[in-house]
Amino acid sequence: MTRYPLVHCDFDDEDCCSVCREKNNGTYYKVVEGSEFCPRHGGAKQANKRKVEAANQYRLSVWQHRLNEFAESDSIKSLRA
Ligand SMILES: [Zn+2]
Repeated sequence: MTRYPLVHCDFDDEDCCSVCREKNNGTYYKVVEGSEFCPRHGGAKQANKRKVEAANQYRLSVWQHRLNEFAESDSIKSLRA
């Protein structure tokens, strides 16, 4: 888990968390990169989840690539013949 710091910002900051804006209590934080929320409103959790998903997706694509190479290799073809 990566920890994300709470970064204060203004209400009209383009990176301002939408939940902070909704609460509108004078305290606004920037969203965590890769999520839609600040760390206080689930942004860190969302960003971490997306990181894990991206890593899984990467591993899957590497595996798929190796599988394709394996299927196309001549030695495998000759084994089948
Ligand atoms: Zn927030």
